[in-house]
Amino acid sequence: MLKRALEGVGGARRNLGWRSWRTRSLGTEVPKERVECVVIGAGVVGTAVARELALRGREVLVLDSAPTFGTGNTSRNSEVIHAGIYYPPHSLKATFCARGRDLLYKYCSEHNIPHKLIGKLIVATSNSEIPKLNHILIRGTENGVPGLRMMEGSEAMRIEPELQCLKAILSPFTGILDTHSLMLSLVGEAENNGATFSYNTTVIGGHVEQSRICLHISETKCLESCNGSFPSQPEMTLIPDLVVNSAGLSAPVLAKRFNGLQNEVIPPAYYARGCYFTLFNMKIPPFEHLIYPIPVEGGIGVHVTLDLDGLVKFGPDVEWIDGVDEISSFLNKFDYSVHANRAELFYADIRKYYPNLKNDSLQAGYAGIRPKVSGPGQPPGDFVIQGMETHGITGLVNLFGIESPGLTSSMAIAEHIATRYL
Ligand SMILES: Cc1cc2nc3c(=O)[nH]c(=O)nc-3n(C[C@H](O)[C@H](O)[C@H](O)COP(=O)(O)OP(=O)(O)OC[C@H]3O[C@@H](n4cnc5c(N)ncnc54)[C@H](O)[C@@H]3O)c2cc1C
Repeated sequence: MLKRALEGVGGARRNLGWRSWRTRSLGTEVPKERVECVVIGAGVVGTAVARELALRGREVLVLDSAPTFGTGNTSRNSEVIHAGIYYPPHSLKATFCARGRDLLYKYCSEHNIPHKLIGKLIVATSNSEIPKLNHILIRGTENGVPGLRMMEGSEAMRIEPELQCLKAILSPFTGILDTHSLMLSLVGEAENNGATFSYNTTVIGGHVEQSRICLHISETKCLESCNGSFPSQPEMTLIPDLVVNSAGLSAPVLAKRFNGLQNEVIPPAYYARGCYFTLFNMKIPPFEHLIYPIPVEGGIGVHVTLDLDGLVKFGPDVEWIDGVDEISSFLNKFDYSVHANRAELFYADIRKYYPNLKNDSLQAGYAGIRPKVSGPGQPPGDFVIQGMETHGITGLVNLFGIESPGLTSSMAIAEHIATRYL
């Protein structure tokens, strides 16, 4: 797969001195190839980066260990275009969410990506939650989120008759989208502009040579057949001018395998699983807006999400879990199981704002895992984007902690990387 992909890329750029070397240091022959830009990970962020670099005329090779694009958190989220309310002002999350929201709405409109600006209500269901709701409104206003408005519970319950709350914030610029259609469009546009995607291709590590990162590449099937250990040598070494490590949950694990990158700059990795339960046997969705409770530690609360087909989902909750070993991480063998017994917690949480939720109406859906840079009991972390200014390695950009609102922010992160690091 990788060799075929490289032929495609190489054919398009004979002028750049594309050639192979033989290494002697590894004892056996490992082909080395130069490439202008490599993006590790074909999730929504990596793909948006690849598209942006390709549109700017760069040669781009996207590597993903999975058989296709978007199999990580990109297909395991709420598919909400966030307005940018909760994040500390001027944080990367606040900045990229606001810019990414605008870019995403424009992109969806121009490329016929199914999306809907359905709006959301953040609700306080007890007196003790009202100061927190006030604080959220102040935060959102500081972040410049358009159209935010505090409502009395009576007004919110008039527009959403199944809702119970004391007060609510209306966010009219929150929406939903079809992520798969977005991915198809981003991949297609990247490819039409010369980017090449190589699936079943795993970056197993790298080393620094003359202050530049060299990537060690292996076909995914070699990792699968190696009984839990890395192959004794990579099948290929790539020497790119720019590497964007957009490997999602695996990004910090992979960065630790870049020999020559100081470990101290890599933030600690924490994992918070979020499960969804779906509402079944319900012909008409009970709500027209997304309904969010007050945020909890590690997440923004078990909320109501509607998808474009009218499916009603509740989630995600927060469950701190352990990581997995390096190879399992690269092969995305995280524990995504949704345990049916968590439904009891969901019923209790949801009934605070949706008291008519019927017994036995929830069924286990799916789970995603948030890549966190701060753990339980710690203040929430920001996105971490590290280039040469942090670690001194030419052309390496690591993306860590790209949890929510990463989908919303994807095109803004791509724009930032292309502007700052090309
Ligand atoms: C429960 C949950 C709900 C969320 N809800 C929302 C939401 O409503 N709105 C929003 O804006 N954001 C949301 N997010 C965040 C959003 O889903 C992510 O920020 C976004 O999908 C991250 O995309 P990514 O490309 O960084 O990572 P991923 O989609 O995880 O992609 C990483 C890719 O890297 C590949 N890979 C891993 N290791 C290697 C390797 N060694 N070599 C090659 N390839 C490798 C993987 O196969 C994968 O395809 C949510 C996240 C979660 C977990």
